[in-house]
Amino acid sequence: MDLNDALSRFERFPLLDGPTPIQRLSRLESRLGSPIRIHVKRDDLMGVGLGGNKLRKLEFLVGQALAQGCDTFITTGGLQSNHARLTAAASARAGLACELVLADMVAYEDEAYAHNGNVLLDQLFGAAVHRVARDADPLLAARQRAGELQRQGRKAYVVGLGGSSPLGALGYVACAAELLQQERAMETRFSRIVIPTGSFGTHAGLLAGLQWLGGDARRVRGYTILARQDVARQRTASLVEAIFSQLRRPGALDADAIDVTDSQLGPGYGLPTPAMIDAVRLLARTEGLVLDPVYSGKAFAGLLASIRAGEFAAGGSVLFIMTGGSPGVYAYRSTLENQG
Ligand SMILES: *Cc1c(COP(=O)(O)O)cnc(C)c1O
Repeated sequence: MDLNDALSRFERFPLLDGPTPIQRLSRLESRLGSPIRIHVKRDDLMGVGLGGNKLRKLEFLVGQALAQGCDTFITTGGLQSNHARLTAAASARAGLACELVLADMVAYEDEAYAHNGNVLLDQLFGAAVHRVARDADPLLAARQRAGELQRQGRKAYVVGLGGSSPLGALGYVACAAELLQQERAMETRFSRIVIPTGSFGTHAGLLAGLQWLGGDARRVRGYTILARQDVARQRTASLVEAIFSQLRRPGALDADAIDVTDSQLGPGYGLPTPAMIDAVRLLARTEGLVLDPVYSGKAFAGLLASIRAGEFAAGGSVLFIMTGGSPGVYAYRSTLENQG
């Protein structure tokens, strides 16, 4: 069956305005003396809620919530979750109430971290925020809250961390098709496609889509910023399988074929690394583009390290997917501002 036909069986609430652009970073290439062309796919450029990769998943998730007659959307995340912010924005646009169960996942004590960036935007988009302790189970709390609402005659849709259910991950299955079409139009084949990976939906969705379409899934490299690489590889492999079964087509990917590394994780989720700070500054100062401190900054640092280590043969092209998260720079003010 055709992938588009398989995807069209699912309800979708439109949050994107067509394909996101792919742009070449020529100034960065010359700054690095890069042997390869460097391109970015601008998944940070979307029209709702300041944009980001979670909107691709939310098209399917909000679509299902509306189809089920829900009036409220509940999700979980860390305090500075981009997914929570975009869920709040997408819910506002869909006319759904939004509740966020946010855990203190990061030991980053700072006024801006606690109040600015995504936290401020969650409030602006009208979401009700429930904060829970680091060791609490936010998904359990979200389900309990859905039960409470049900007793009041309401109906809530619940999805966990990053919106990375098999349904949400379909957003990146669709993105794989979009990307292959752009490659054809550009008459280019990217030898590596680099992404940050957190809750595995972006990575697994791309892999499933590329695999289905014969687009060579092995060229995707994920930089995990939350789980250790062995865990990330297993979880991504299971999610790929769940995506295929949801699309009612048997399919899987050998875990060994999944390229994911924790080389940029540093001390842990949401904790800055010197390489991340350098990457965020370099892209801002050579191209005027904003990476984020938690995800894309660390993954881009990984790509820079590969280029500097001479991993790429001359003449090819690589693609970095800019997944969004720019409100994070306000939360990490004390890390990113000029010192002294
Ligand atoms: C959530 C997020 C990611 C990771 O995507 P997953 O599907 O959770 O792996 C990457 N970049 C940004 C900016 C994000 O907000």
